Amino acid sequence: MSDLLANLNPPQLQAVTLPPVHGLILAGAGSGKTRVLTTRIAWLISTGQVGPHGILAVTFTNKAAKEMTARLSSLVPINVRGMWIGTFHGLCNRLLRAHYREAGLPQTFQILDSADQLAMVKRLLKNLNIDDEKYPPRELCHFINAHKEQGVRAGQAEVYDNYTQKRVEIYAEYEAQCNREGVVDFAELLLRCYELLQRNEPLRAHYQQRFRHILVDEFQDTNVLQYAWLKLLAGGGANVFAVGDDDQSIYRFRGAEVGNMRDFERDYAAQNIIRLEQNYRSQGNILAAANAIIKNNRERLGKNLWTDAGEGEPIRAFEAYSDLDEARFVVEEIRELVRDGVVPTQIALLYRSNAQSRVLENELFTKNVPYKVYGGLRFFERQEIKHALAYLRLLGNPDDDTAFLRVVNFPTRGIGARSLENLQATAHQMNSSLYNAAASLTGKAGQTVGAFIRLIESLRQETEGLPLPEMVEHVIEKSGLAQHYRTEKEGQDRLENLDELINAAATFIDDEGAIGEGGALVSFLTLASLEAGEHQAGEGQEAVQLMSVHAAKGLEFDVVFITGLEQGLFPHENSVNEGKDGLEEERRLMYVAVTRARQRLYVSCAQTRMLHGQTRYCMPSSFLDEIPENLMRKLNKKAEATSAVPSFSAFGGGYAEPPASGGLRIGQTVEHAKFGIGVIVSTEGRGADARVQVNFGGSGMKWLALEYAKLTPV
Ligand code: ATP
Ligand code: MG
Repeated sequence: MSDLLANLNPPQLQAVTLPPVHGLILAGAGSGKTRVLTTRIAWLISTGQVGPHGILAVTFTNKAAKEMTARLSSLVPINVRGMWIGTFHGLCNRLLRAHYREAGLPQTFQILDSADQLAMVKRLLKNLNIDDEKYPPRELCHFINAHKEQGVRAGQAEVYDNYTQKRVEIYAEYEAQCNREGVVDFAELLLRCYELLQRNEPLRAHYQQRFRHILVDEFQDTNVLQYAWLKLLAGGGANVFAVGDDDQSIYRFRGAEVGNMRDFERDYAAQNIIRLEQNYRSQGNILAAANAIIKNNRERLGKNLWTDAGEGEPIRAFEAYSDLDEARFVVEEIRELVRDGVVPTQIALLYRSNAQSRVLENELFTKNVPYKVYGGLRFFERQEIKHALAYLRLLGNPDDDTAFLRVVNFPTRGIGARSLENLQATAHQMNSSLYNAAASLTGKAGQTVGAFIRLIESLRQETEGLPLPEMVEHVIEKSGLAQHYRTEKEGQDRLENLDELINAAATFIDDEGAIGEGGALVSFLTLASLEAGEHQAGEGQEAVQLMSVHAAKGLEFDVVFITGLEQGLFPHENSVNEGKDGLEEERRLMYVAVTRARQRLYVSCAQTRMLHGQTRYCMPSSFLDEIPENLMRKLNKKAEATSAVPSFSAFGGGYAEPPASGGLRIGQTVEHAKFGIGVIVSTEGRGADARVQVNFGGSGMKWLALEYAKLTPV
């Protein structure tokens, strides 16, 4: 026990050993919030105040949940399997699985990921004959999710004009369709669970009595509904212990509310607000940079972190000519670090947008450096994996139209678009699933679709009682998927991924604690939808870690590279349009990125970058200017030495430099009296008509007529 509490500083110790009351720990990055939370669970259990059964802990990712469980079992001799430690989504899923009937769901309900959701909305618009240009499907998904995250059903949504009226109608149709198919989207997991607890008094009382201690990590990123869910579960009796950092709130665009911190103080009459200010993660220079950056934000609860770790190394800054050049630099450094004995898993490569990873991956691959990407091209979101999962989903729940449509004609079995439209119309009329409606089809459509139905039926019979990995293997083989990819030119990769899916099923089974209510298949499919982006093929290899800054939250690494520090990329251009709040959120994201590093931090940017098929000319991020010069060492000399790049026009796959306009050319840095310094990104017209497009960074992208705008080359 004393071991448990050894090495905690006084405020940490106070937090861990708070008497059974509500507590809020408000503290900066790396100050030990997660450690305190985990140790508190261990302390509560080992002092006999509560059994493992009475704990509910919410973490930010499934990865974090696993780490917490592992840590716990090393701290206290208990069986941690089956403990309620997980993400909001994971915990709600578990509760709904256990009480599917009360929640009005089929036992085998499936989870729609965001791609599935988008597909369903598109399908609905088509069925309802709604113009998808006027009502863009992506925007509708956002509309639906935002309402659900506020706890608002279609029937309760506020209607203030005809346009919204229509969107609310689509929302209602979408809800009905999900119910018909027995599927739930991410936001629905939470809302459904919340409504269930609210409506069902005995159930609520049961869980309220059961969970004596509710602990929440990354509290700053909880949204309105999550907050309400916690409050409901806590009832009057449980003790809520929340840890968070307002400076790391990076999901406001998704409805997370920092106001929750203030609400917490009010709702729980929290008298125990503990601040932790010593940072144990980063060396002094890194922490000083983080502090200097976040100081520029106005909307803060305010705190300053310190460390006694010493200054450590300077922050290494590199300005590359191009994204390729940047990738070369990064990979070269990584190779050197590994040669010097740094463990590859202790090196993280961070970027603002997943699209940036391609160039880095390419270079890592070419130089034979093992790497692992979290997020981005997600294992469970790859086409071949989704196809295989769709077959498996149909075995569990034939009414799952999304899965049905994904594979009814994949591999092709001669089912045309006309037949499918027919089928959809019939299903719509009969108010039934596509699978059920198939029996009423006649003619050729009846035959081809009928054959598909028979295939699914026979797959179901053949796999009944088989262990999960064999079931997966059988489905991949007998559905025709394997054969399809064997004959495809670039199918090898996909076949390997399918093998990996069988492996994933096998590992899943070994980890028996993972199997929940509803059986192995349902649990496995749930994992696939909830863990998309967190699981990677080739786990266990000593690999460099690649991920977006969002995905890096809560993690730490010896060495961190923050790449693509360019205006418009990081801070992201979307944030510029949102004014001050947008920029502050980007800055918090930058703060998160910087504070992931323990010993060494690299920051880099490129002058040109290929993104979404276009070459962009970029200015260094304003965040770089916020790092005090004396903390940095510029490595530019190396750039000239390693780069064999003669001029801008050499980039962009055959991009020809347009003719000079008024003596200005693409890539040139210019100054404008009002907008400041910018880089010319394209030109058009000649003579009196000549216009140039300039990226002014913080002031955005502008088209300027050369005749009027005074631009001075700098
Ligand atoms: P973040 O805000 O990034 O989530 P955090 O506040 O949760 O950070 P932790 O991850 O819990 O911080 O801790 C950061 C690091 O500091 C971890 O490696 C942890 O083990 C270590 N640490 C925390 N407290 C102490 C301590 N008292 N003594 C030694 N190391 C500590
Ligand atoms: Mg943490």
